[in-house]
Amino acid sequence: MSKVLKCGDVVPGCDAVVRADSEDEVMRQAADHARTAHGLAEIDARTAQAVRAAIRTA
Ligand SMILES: [Zn+2]
Repeated sequence: MSKVLKCGDVVPGCDAVVRADSEDEVMRQAADHARTAHGLAEIDARTAQAVRAAIRTA
């Protein structure tokens, strides 16, 4: 089982998918993706909550 985040669930129009073994690792990779792809230096609490809510187990 792995954890999957479709960035498009949080950022409409983005087709990136982050997949990792744990939710924390997905969050870490999502933060990297947000910085490099979306120019977000920091993920604020509201965004982090939205990202966690969008993570699926697959
Ligand atoms: Zn994205």
